Amino acid sequence: MNNNGTIVAISTGVGAGAISIVRMSGDRAVEIADKIFSSNGGKLPSSFVPRMLVLGSISTKNFTEQAMCVKFAAPKSYTGEDMIEFQCHGGTQIASGILKECLSQGARLATNGEFTKRAFLNGKITLSAAEGMMDMINAESDAEIRAGYGLLSGNLSSLATFVQNKLTDILAEIEVSFDYPEETIEFITKSKVKNELTQIRDKIQEVLKTSNAGKLIKSGLNVLIVGRPNVGKSSLLNNLLGQEKAIVTDVAGTTRDVIEGSFLLGDIKINLIDTAGIQETNDKVEKIGIDKAKSLISFADIVLFLIDQSKPYGDEDEKIHDEIKGTNFIAIKTKSDLSPMCEKHFEGEIAISNRSKDGIDKIKEKLSSIAQVSNADSGKIIITNERHKISLSHALQSIENALAALSENSLDLISIDIKDAYTSIGEITGNTASEDIIDAIFKKFCLGK
Ligand code: GDP
Repeated sequence: MNNNGTIVAISTGVGAGAISIVRMSGDRAVEIADKIFSSNGGKLPSSFVPRMLVLGSISTKNFTEQAMCVKFAAPKSYTGEDMIEFQCHGGTQIASGILKECLSQGARLATNGEFTKRAFLNGKITLSAAEGMMDMINAESDAEIRAGYGLLSGNLSSLATFVQNKLTDILAEIEVSFDYPEETIEFITKSKVKNELTQIRDKIQEVLKTSNAGKLIKSGLNVLIVGRPNVGKSSLLNNLLGQEKAIVTDVAGTTRDVIEGSFLLGDIKINLIDTAGIQETNDKVEKIGIDKAKSLISFADIVLFLIDQSKPYGDEDEKIHDEIKGTNFIAIKTKSDLSPMCEKHFEGEIAISNRSKDGIDKIKEKLSSIAQVSNADSGKIIITNERHKISLSHALQSIENALAALSENSLDLISIDIKDAYTSIGEITGNTASEDIIDAIFKKFCLGK
């Protein structure tokens, strides 16, 4: 139970809407609700059947409102504490009036994510599941929702718990062998420990391999558009985004800075970045864009290298080609509606016309095939969270240290590495996470969650 008071917050979004929800959690939630709410039949929340929605009215200092109330009795609630939820009419004033009334009756305003933090502290949810829930709320694609749901429903927590249990068993095994210091026992224990640790190592390695796909799901595919001035970069950006994001003119160097935009391609977010070109220039403003373009090349997952096929392939094109040679680039021949003048060919090049829109779909198909990772079902573990990746990597390192030392050292030294691995893995579910980590995670949550 939490001694940190009864908290209250508006859990629904701000602004006009049909319904708003105000929720309270803590020892005094029901007592406060009794003071302000009664059912149409005159009953008070303390006598309500838990988890039943009851129609009635709320009385505040300044108004009375028809509303619904539901009571959750500890520990069967989101936070694990007694909880009350009021469903009132939407808008900005009603919910805040009810909130104020709860505050004046002794509740205090919840901090960001405090309901979920209490759920975690009361053992209702693991840290990684809470993070999954937040990922779902912030999701910008279906793939992100699925990955978030996987975390929320505990796929990674179960793995972490399984590994921690295994490591505990191994430690116990080692302890037992100290009581029987005969060589044969030590030999048997060592080979058994080696076998078990190898299995855990392989499992962690397998899960870690999904982090590239996870990054794609979470951050999207970063696609950089490069090419000399007037080649059609801004026009392509607009065609892919389906909106006038970049100003398109036929004066060279109109795209003064880097212009960005995102769109959903199937399940995956594509982040487009249009550059000012990477040719030399004396123009100060343009120069900033060019430097930025150069640094962006190293961050891009894919580079779209645009070449105007209505003009001869020139030095300017080749300079840009030199810059992007080491990257994963796709050559795009623009202005296919005009007579061809370009004799240079690239493997896998795509011809497009920004005027007639021919070939734009081919670019989308190509990007889609590169981003083919999103079909993961929610049951499968995909590492989307950098914190989880770091914990798994640390655990892997400790297990590898233990395995390397196994043939040389005595078993008690190996125990230290195994304990380190245990701690790293526990940071995922939160059972070994420090208060600082926990606070930092819940601070990112929204108010009322
Ligand atoms: P950027 O400087 O590379 O961003 O090029 P823009 O997209 O601003 O295009 C420069 C000029 O080329 C504009 O007048 C566009 O209308 C024109 N343009 C762009 N793409 C095509 C195309 O595929 N066909 C034709 N005919 N003109 C195009």
